[in-house]
Amino acid sequence: MKKIQSYLIKVTGLVQGVGFRPFIYRLAKELQISGWVENRTDGVTILANTDQEGLDQFQQLILQMHPPASRIDQITAKKTDFFPCHQFIIKKSQAVAGQITAVSPDLAVCSACLEDIKKQKNRINYPFTNCTNCGPRFSIIKNIPYDRKNTSMHDFIMCPQCEAEYTNIENRRFHAQPNACSICGPQYQLVYQNQTITNMDAILSVTTTLLNTSGIMALKGMGGFNLICNAEDQQAVRKLRDLKKRDGKPFAVMFASLAGLKKYAQPADKEIELLTSVARPIVIIKSKTAGLPEEVCNGLHTIGAILPYMPIHYLLFEKSQLEAIVFTSGNFSSEPIIIHNHVAEQQLSQHCSAILEYNRTIINRCDDSVVQVVKNKTQIMRRARGYVPHAIPTALNTEGIFATGGELKTTFCLGKGQDGIFSQHIGDLKNADTFDAYQDAYNRLKMLFQFKPELVVTDLHQDFYAAQWAQQLGLPVIHAQHHHAHIAAAMAEFHLEEKVIGFAFDGIGLGTDHKIWGSEVLICDLLNFNRYSHLDYVLLPGLDQGAKEPWRMALSYLYKIFGKDLVNLDAPLLQQIKAQDQQLLVAILEQKINCIATSSMGRLFDAVAALCNICLIHTFEAEAPIRLENLADPQCYNEYSFHIDQTIKVYPMIEEILRDVQNQTPVAKIAAAFHNTVVRIMITLAKKIKNEYNINKVILSGGVFQNRFLLSRCYDFFLKEKFHLYVANQAPVNDGGLALGQLAIGAKQRSQ
Ligand code: ZN
Ligand code: FE
Repeated sequence: MKKIQSYLIKVTGLVQGVGFRPFIYRLAKELQISGWVENRTDGVTILANTDQEGLDQFQQLILQMHPPASRIDQITAKKTDFFPCHQFIIKKSQAVAGQITAVSPDLAVCSACLEDIKKQKNRINYPFTNCTNCGPRFSIIKNIPYDRKNTSMHDFIMCPQCEAEYTNIENRRFHAQPNACSICGPQYQLVYQNQTITNMDAILSVTTTLLNTSGIMALKGMGGFNLICNAEDQQAVRKLRDLKKRDGKPFAVMFASLAGLKKYAQPADKEIELLTSVARPIVIIKSKTAGLPEEVCNGLHTIGAILPYMPIHYLLFEKSQLEAIVFTSGNFSSEPIIIHNHVAEQQLSQHCSAILEYNRTIINRCDDSVVQVVKNKTQIMRRARGYVPHAIPTALNTEGIFATGGELKTTFCLGKGQDGIFSQHIGDLKNADTFDAYQDAYNRLKMLFQFKPELVVTDLHQDFYAAQWAQQLGLPVIHAQHHHAHIAAAMAEFHLEEKVIGFAFDGIGLGTDHKIWGSEVLICDLLNFNRYSHLDYVLLPGLDQGAKEPWRMALSYLYKIFGKDLVNLDAPLLQQIKAQDQQLLVAILEQKINCIATSSMGRLFDAVAALCNICLIHTFEAEAPIRLENLADPQCYNEYSFHIDQTIKVYPMIEEILRDVQNQTPVAKIAAAFHNTVVRIMITLAKKIKNEYNINKVILSGGVFQNRFLLSRCYDFFLKEKFHLYVANQAPVNDGGLALGQLAIGAKQRSQ
């Protein structure tokens, strides 16, 4: 005889807005369990009337079969007072004041929907097909709760068939808010040679012809426009390069399939997991030497690879028979990615063969995310589509704190409960358009998360758009130092509050002494930091030019060692630079005109790359360090000399590198030895601090740690020395992660 009892099951994780409750309902019905399921602030609660055996089976099946877009962190069950029910129901979720309404990130199309596109009536070749397991979410939401009327699907009235799916709990499209078919849903249109083509077959056939004849197309994606062309067609890729002329940044490539991708790149298991995840980010992976035209990766040994995530991508590949398309964001230089049809038509039509757009509005602009794997650990480099607006849990009371982020690769962070909610990547806040995008994103997230700002945390730098705007909100403002915030971001993610050793290495950040910092060795907790060491200051000649033209930094280092006699050195670099320019730069350094002292690690990488003659002027951000890393020989463990007193003196190393270059030592060896030396400097300082202060936890943060060679050497060496090493997985290590650190610093200060 079965002993039926009531059990309360709690499931936490990502269980809202991803078809979790209908799944529980269907499962309960199948197992003949009565009771209910309900959304709560912290997850889903289930009342199940069953016996012990039934309960075990229920829990096991929940764990095994939950919807692909959901994630279960924990599932617990306890007996409760018997509560008789006739059937199993989904309780209406009640909006509790202050409750975080879960908003799901956008999800890649699922395999069941891809099947439907092949054979289901009204959905054949219909590119807006979706279900509770897949499709747009964040990019189409205007307001909460997440109901169709609060999304840009509001404009489309469901046909009786879609309506029937939407209201049938047994159906995969039950309460799928963007549910649509070719009869009632959004439609693509191709703007081509002053015509507008609306028939899907015609669109695909014209598109196929264009892509196969070196055409460049603008394609409206999930969170904005992309520019695409055949990645195997050198002429097309060159055209696209020209179009983005000031930008030499390697292009991301979308591959038709994982099998196709493996022809050009060598993904590890963890990378495959990311490539095929519902977030479907761009994953930086090792490329194979032969393959795509040079212009795609611009000489780098890595490739930003991505797999299709919208039905339209699959359709384009299928019809065109292409294997790889260049997939880059539809914007120019530092402007935000284009989201509106009329803007795309205005700005892109003279450059593109055609524009493939659709008649549903993108509410929230969202770039493709970029991630990489180093030592089997994920690093998010650009946090956007597929990840935003997932909350990052901290161990601090963050409620009501608005962290503005910095100026480059900006994101901001809102504090809710103990969470940090990152905005999508917005870009460099250097122009009004980007700042508009920032304010839009702030207003939207504020509404979606019912956020009430009480405290603002921003950078020390008062000139930033965001910092100035923050001042006007009429709220208390805390200023967090840039590099302290870098370290604090990882502390928040790993729930660390004790003192740690922080290496914050990046390009630029304002210091408390008004100099440009960037190689900071900190002993810190969330409240305070002590700047234990840093690279000896050198002059950064011309703030912007100095950063864009690595040869200037190389000369600055040489000037520090040799004075104005540097012009007489036998250095291959100098042969590349006009005598006049050399003289001018020396004069600038002599008289300290338009120079600022910097301890930037990024600028040291620039100087070394220029000294090796591999990159004198950047054609994209961080090109010099990236090329240096790209060349470094992983078999080489040579190191150069350095000296540490009050500061880190790398001048002996610079002289040795100069000598190596003169002796025509292979750059691969020089580059490796340089990286090894930076790691040796870090180990030396970490051991000193450990001896003096007995601190064993080391955090690496700042854009420099996107360097795969450097980071993997750090893992090897620090672990060998028995340090506990922390590098953020969720928050970008570059300035895109600053906001979480600011949030944590603000939360800690407020709690004092
Ligand atoms: Zn689906
Ligand atoms: Fe930084």
